Amino acid sequence: MPLEKVLLAKPRGFCAGVVRAVDIVNIALDVYEKPLYVRKEIVHNRHVVEELRAKGTVFVDSLLEVPSGATVVFSAHGVSPEVREKAKAKNLKVIDATCPLVTKVHLEAVKYARDGFTIVLIGHKGHEEVVGTMGEAPQHMVLISSREEVAHLNPPDSNRIAYLTQTTLSLDETREIIATLRQKFPHIVGPPSEDICYATQNRQESVQAMARHAGLILVVGSGNSSNSNRLVEEAQKSGAQSYLIDDYRNIQESWLEGVRVVGVTAGASAPEILVQQVVEHLKARGAATVEEFETTKENVHFALPPNLASDLETRNRVRT
Ligand code: SF4
Repeated sequence: MPLEKVLLAKPRGFCAGVVRAVDIVNIALDVYEKPLYVRKEIVHNRHVVEELRAKGTVFVDSLLEVPSGATVVFSAHGVSPEVREKAKAKNLKVIDATCPLVTKVHLEAVKYARDGFTIVLIGHKGHEEVVGTMGEAPQHMVLISSREEVAHLNPPDSNRIAYLTQTTLSLDETREIIATLRQKFPHIVGPPSEDICYATQNRQESVQAMARHAGLILVVGSGNSSNSNRLVEEAQKSGAQSYLIDDYRNIQESWLEGVRVVGVTAGASAPEILVQQVVEHLKARGAATVEEFETTKENVHFALPPNLASDLETRNRVRT
C-alpha cells in the first residue's frame, strides 16, 4: 500500500505561552545589553534553544552561573519563590516568561496553602513546571502521577484537601486520577476545570480524532517536552502507530511501509518550519495530497511582561 496522503493537525505547534516566551527572549536580546541569560530551556525544544543560543543567549541551569546585576529570563515553565529570592539577592534584572496559565496554578497553590489545605499536585516528578509549583508551598504539597498513588495518601485532615494539575498532562488519565481522588476524599476541592491548558487539550483532542483516519501519526517535538510525549501516547491509545521526532531526519523508512495516510502534528513548543520539513519529506515519498485536519480554532494571545513592554517602549522612543 503506497503512501497517498498527509493529514496536518490544526491546531498544532506553538501555543500562546511559547509564542510569548520566544518573543520575550528575542525582544530582550534587542533591548538589553548582551549577554542575556535564560534560566533553563526557555521552552522544551532543542531547535528553538539552539536558534536563540546562536543569537547570543546564554542558557544556564542555575542562577549561580549568572553574574550579579545581569539580566535573566525565567522560562515558560515557571520558577519557585526560592529562585525569585535568589535573583533578588544577586540584584538581577528579571524578565519573567512564565506562561500565565502556569502562574494561575501557582496562585491556586498559594491560596489553598494559606487556607490550610493539603494540596495533591498531579504531575511528573522532576518536570520544571512541577518543581516551580511545588516550591510555592512545599510543606503543604504532595506530588502524585498515577491512580495507584492515591491509595497511599494520608493527609492530616481529609476534609481539607485540594488537588491541582500540571498544565501538560493526559486529559483522560488526569480525569481518572481526579475521579479516584474524589472516591477516597469526597470533600476534595480543585479548580473549576482541571488546569490542563487549552493548548494541551486541543492538541490531544485533535490527535485522537486524526488517529481514526491515519495509520501513522508523527509528532514533532523534543524528548523532554511533556505535552509532545502525551500526544504520542494519545495517538497510540487511539489505535495509530505513533512516534516522537525532533525533525524529519528521525523518520525511519520502515515506519511508512504499508501506510496510506500519515497524520502530522507538533507539540506546543515545536516550530512550524520543522513540521513543513516533515511534510516535504513525506511528499518526496509519494504523498500526493496534504490536507489540514482542523478540529478547533485557537485565538489566544498573552501580553508581554510589563517591565519588558515598558523597556521596549522606552527604547523605541529613544530610537525615533
Ligand atoms: S503548553 Fe499551555 S501552559 Fe504550557 S506554555 Fe503553552 S499555553 Fe502555557
